Amino acid sequence: MKLLSCKEATSLASQRLDRRLGLLERLSLRLHLAVCDGCSRVAKQFAFLRTAVKQLGERDA
Ligand SMILES: [Zn+2]
Repeated sequence: MKLLSCKEATSLASQRLDRRLGLLERLSLRLHLAVCDGCSRVAKQFAFLRTAVKQLGERDA
């Protein structure tokens, strides 16, 4: 399994919100997040943003 660069990892973290990642993608992303604090933070922010946007959408609906 290849190691992701930070750019690839943040890209996957963002795509994860829009589509199902493949098994290898999920594993390599998880591996990268386990060793990279910067991308862990970014991934958490993506997740937080998605939750926030989703809640806004539900409130409007
Ligand atoms: Zn990284």
